[in-house]
Amino acid sequence: MDHVLKIADSYVFTPYVYPSSWPEDGTLRQLISLWVVTNLGGQLIYLGFGLLSFYYVFDHRLMKHPLFIKNQVGKEIRLGANSIFWMSFPTVALFFWEIRGYSKLYDNISESSMGWQEMILSIAGFLFFTDMCIYWIHRTMHHKNIYKHLHKQHHNFKIPTPFASHAFHPLDGFLQSLPYHVYPFIFPLHKVVYLLLFVFVNVWTISIHDGDYRIPGPLICLINGAAHHVDHHLYFNYNYGQYFTLWDRLGGSYRHPSALLGKGPHDHVRKLLADAAQAH
Ligand SMILES: [Zn+2]
Ligand SMILES: [Zn+2]
Repeated sequence: MDHVLKIADSYVFTPYVYPSSWPEDGTLRQLISLWVVTNLGGQLIYLGFGLLSFYYVFDHRLMKHPLFIKNQVGKEIRLGANSIFWMSFPTVALFFWEIRGYSKLYDNISESSMGWQEMILSIAGFLFFTDMCIYWIHRTMHHKNIYKHLHKQHHNFKIPTPFASHAFHPLDGFLQSLPYHVYPFIFPLHKVVYLLLFVFVNVWTISIHDGDYRIPGPLICLINGAAHHVDHHLYFNYNYGQYFTLWDRLGGSYRHPSALLGKGPHDHVRKLLADAAQAH
């Protein structure tokens, strides 16, 4: 985040916002700036990519599904934007430790012991580690004593749109995002790679809610896509994973996507429309 903060300082905060008596490395100034950047960045990624996905990927016929609730898109956006707003407070604490040098993030390839090789391995490590942690955190969220207090809000949307991607109780959203922030405190990671991965995980989360259930044949068993995740919204105790099906398979919670068996939400809507056309 120090690169992002440096850019925001040079182009916006220092010339236009803060009085010159506030040094750029002052604790309070850094905390405020990080909160603004995290909150605005989070909202922009969520609404920007969400909007693109909603208009160009999401099949609007899904809104005719009987489980699609009244004013659902507005409810998803309100919950998502609210969640990002509150989540950005604890997230800033982690970003603050990071810019103060407590993480294992590095600037140059030359600083890592194995160079490019380590950088590529760290991407695989990040995906594996965060997928594993999110699986268990998400599964814990479904425990009967926790579910109704924290995770139920996300499951109000049985037929999600891309805007359901960040629609969580703020504590649920923060806990599920924790692995992304913890990783660079445990393992070395290039700073720019970390930023790109941060954008990627947000876009991925949108993509598993986008209603595009197509997935290349050989990847069906490996990748947790929108077809897998919609079954999580519909049938609850299956497909908790984020990118891969690995932990669902190991944890006995894998369910082959109903959308790929001709029994998914699109098939349901198609049948309803055909029945309605026949009735006329
Ligand atoms: Zn869930
Ligand atoms: Zn979801």
